[in-house]
Amino acid sequence: MTLGQAVDELVTANRILAREGVVDSFGHVSIRHPDRPDRYLLSRARAPECIEADDVMEFTGDGAPVDAAGRKPYSERFIHGAVYDVRPDVQSVVHHHSPSVIPFSVTGARLSPVMHMCAGIGARIPTWDSRASFGDTNLLVTNLAMAKELAAALGERPVVLMRGHGCVVAGASLREVVFNSIYLQLNADLQMKAHALGDITFLSAGEIAAVLSTRGSFTFERAWESWCRRAGRPYHARP
Ligand SMILES: [Zn+2]
Repeated sequence: MTLGQAVDELVTANRILAREGVVDSFGHVSIRHPDRPDRYLLSRARAPECIEADDVMEFTGDGAPVDAAGRKPYSERFIHGAVYDVRPDVQSVVHHHSPSVIPFSVTGARLSPVMHMCAGIGARIPTWDSRASFGDTNLLVTNLAMAKELAAALGERPVVLMRGHGCVVAGASLREVVFNSIYLQLNADLQMKAHALGDITFLSAGEIAAVLSTRGSFTFERAWESWCRRAGRPYHARP
């Protein structure tokens, strides 16, 4: 992927996440720099639905802008660099505050796949509580120390919840993390509906593994084309 393609893809990802209600005026998505794996690309501080190519900035792993050119970065950009630093397999990171996932971050309720399309969110999703190490804060991850602890809580998983705040979704491609972000939100909604009806039967570890073993780029492409259409963005196949 060229730098230009990565920027274009990132703009589309922002528009899709906004269109699908995963992010509102807040939340952000990044992609690892295609030529400099120790850097990442992330918009300036702006609502995802409004983001254009000129908003995309380049950051070093510790969250320093390479050439800010007067643009103000997100205060929570440290999340992205901390994840890329400890997860060489990760090519894209989403941080969002979907209202559907918040209830699971503030209770002991288990968030786990209840439907095959949601298998990519992982068998058991941990919750990171900033207060445990950092006391009473405004809950924003505004420094590298907090971001590193959050990345450690994520571990090798695709998702970690943040108590009273939101979550982080990490994965091997931008299309995969957008897919899993949207289906994380759907799973949370489905789980709350199911819980109101009775005891939940979650997907087993074997079922999750079976779904993921047969999931290829075809699944992500089929969804991405549709979401591009809904978000009013051109679709570029990436098989
Ligand atoms: Zn946040």
